[in-house]
Order: sequence, then C-alpha cells, then structure tokens
Amino acid sequence: MTTSTESGTSLWPIEIKASTAPRSITERDAIMANPGFGKYFTDHMVRAKWTTEDGWHGEELVPYGPLMLDPATNVMHYGQAIFEGLKAYRHADGSIKTFRPIKNSERFARSARRLAMAELPDELFLGSIEALVRQDQAWVPSDQEKSLYLRPFMISTEVGLGVRPSNSYEYLLIASPAGAYFPQGVKPVSVWLSDEYVRAAPGGTGEAKCAGNYAASLVAQAEAAQHGCDQVVWIDAVERRWIEEMGGMNLYFVYGEGDSARIVTPQLTGALLPGITRESLLTVAEDLGIRADEGRISVEDWRDGCASEAISEVFACGTAAVITPVGQVKSRESGAWEVAGGRTGVLTMKLRQALLDIQTGAAPDRHNWMHTIC
Ligand SMILES: *Cc1c(COP(=O)(O)O)cnc(C)c1O
Repeated sequence: MTTSTESGTSLWPIEIKASTAPRSITERDAIMANPGFGKYFTDHMVRAKWTTEDGWHGEELVPYGPLMLDPATNVMHYGQAIFEGLKAYRHADGSIKTFRPIKNSERFARSARRLAMAELPDELFLGSIEALVRQDQAWVPSDQEKSLYLRPFMISTEVGLGVRPSNSYEYLLIASPAGAYFPQGVKPVSVWLSDEYVRAAPGGTGEAKCAGNYAASLVAQAEAAQHGCDQVVWIDAVERRWIEEMGGMNLYFVYGEGDSARIVTPQLTGALLPGITRESLLTVAEDLGIRADEGRISVEDWRDGCASEAISEVFACGTAAVITPVGQVKSRESGAWEVAGGRTGVLTMKLRQALLDIQTGAAPDRHNWMHTIC
C-alpha cells in the first residue's frame, strides 16, 4: 500500500469494510456500457465523522447505501453542505490516475471555512479517494472517453433547530462511472444571460462549492430553458454588467485568430467559483504558445466583440464536460447574437484536446498534475 502521494501528503488510514454483495460483473458491465452521468454508483463509499470533542474519527470504507438521519438534522434546515467533483482516468498501461486532487482538497477546505464547517485534512481527502478508487477500481472505465466521477461532500449533522454552526459533521465520498459528455460529438450550447437572478454577490458564498449556490441557481436555469437556451450565464450582482460564469462552469473568450489569438477568462472577484479546469487552462494555453489572461468582459464587450469579430470563440470549462463551446447568446435587454457563427471554434477544440490528452495519458504530464492511485 502506498503511504505517500505526489503532493507529499501521507495518507490517513481508513478501515476497509468491503461489501459482501457487490454488483455482479454482468450488471457492472451493463452499467459501464452506457453510464450516463451521476446515475449509477459503485459498490462502496467512504465516510468519516467530526465532532467538537473528538475531531475527525470513524473513517471507514463501507458498502454504498442510504444514510439514516434524524429529521431535525441541521443540514436539512440550514444547509451547511459543500461538495467537490473530480475524475479518475484509466491510462493505456492500466494505471488509474486523478487530475490535481490536491487542488480539490484545498478548495474543499476553503468551502468548509466559508460555511463555518470543520476542515477536512488533505491526508483524509486524498486518503478517502485512494481507498475508494482502489476498492472499486473495476468501475474505472478503460474507454478513453469515459471516467469514474468522484463526489466528495460534507454535511452538518447536529440534531436540533438552533441556528449556529453544527457541532458535528459527516464527510462522504461516492463514485459514479461517467460516459462521454458529448456522445454525439462536441456541440456548442446556447446561453441565456440572467438579468433578473444573480448567482453570487460580494461577501456571499460565490467562491465556495456549496449546495446552496446550486439551489439558488435553478430558477434561472429554468428561465434559460424557457427561452430555449441550454445554460444560464451569470452577470455580476453590483453593476449587472460583467460576465462571471456559465451554470457550473467558468468561461473563456478567444480574441483574434490564428497565431495572434489570445484567451481571456473573467478574473476571480470573490463571486466566481475558482475552477481547477479554468486555472489549468491558463497554463495549458501558455504551453501551446497562446497568451492567456484574466480580465473583465462586459455584456456589451461580448455582443460588440462578436459583431466586429474581435471575439472569435467563447467556451466554458469544468471537470464534468472539460470544455464546451458557446454558440448562441440570448438576453432580455441586449438582444441575441451568435458566437463564431454558432460553430465550434478551432482553438476551443485545440485546448480541449490538449487538456484531455494530459488527463488520459496521451500527452506527457509536464506539470506533474496526474496523481497515480494504482
Ligand atoms: C465546480 C464549478 C466550476 C468548475 O470547477 P472545476 O474545478 O473546473 O470543475 C465552475 N463553476 C461552478 C459554479 C462550480 O461549482
């Protein structure tokens, strides 16, 4: 058993209580042939508890199954709930790797701090991932387009209706095989600029990966759908002018074309979720000789930039879909327009392939981003 990682963190021991009734190979194969996203879960999960008296304890890998919670459990009333999302990939040599898991661990700790929850040590975050992926390694697809999606999360578990930070928390890790995000090939999405609802305001929880941010976003997502759009794009809460992000993904704007092309992503203001894909693409772009900056892009910049062709492509990025082109924009106040003639841009696909190649092992891992599990 490995006891240290590329990040130099030694791993927290986890007691293994394996299932005596895992899914049959036939059942597993049927699921893995067509997994979709977040629909099926592997045979096990990891759990750990935190209390004010004992800190973190009771770390164990157990069969996947329901939780039993008192109806007065804090999370169901006041919503102290945070999560993460990352993927495990099987490389051609059969090894299994995750992409920059220490970044997820650090963000999970920051989210916990913002929601006044207990921080999970990196050793336990990474240790839980190693334990679950090793145990359920048969669930990591070998198909290049597929992966095992990992979902670490934490909830407050104190029983009672008093409003205060909970005195106990539970950390859980579950895993779900994930199919190709674009089974029919990469296709640009249409977006609705949300002018009525905002995702995050200064001083709010925009930087935290918390369940509440998603709860608050769903009405705008429904509004986008009513306008025939696939996704919602968030505008800043104060000036209602600056582009922030798209649904659960960060955005990039491509200025210029060919050798002079450069990419710009909205700067982190405290209201945006600092995506690991976003951050990695700043580096991947530089590796490819493409200038990459953080900046401010307004709704007018976007519309006028597409009209004058100063903006040649726009794409969104995140763990689940890697990179998604944006083809169409609709809004109440600023009209509707096309990006890149509604087609997938060349640079969008180049960056997508470059990042995927690192993650799937088709390209060398120059920045030591891949973390080998087994
Ligand atoms: C998770 C998330 C992202 C993308 O983050 P990655 O680390 O790249 O997966 C972007 N925006 C929101 C709101 C998110 O929750």
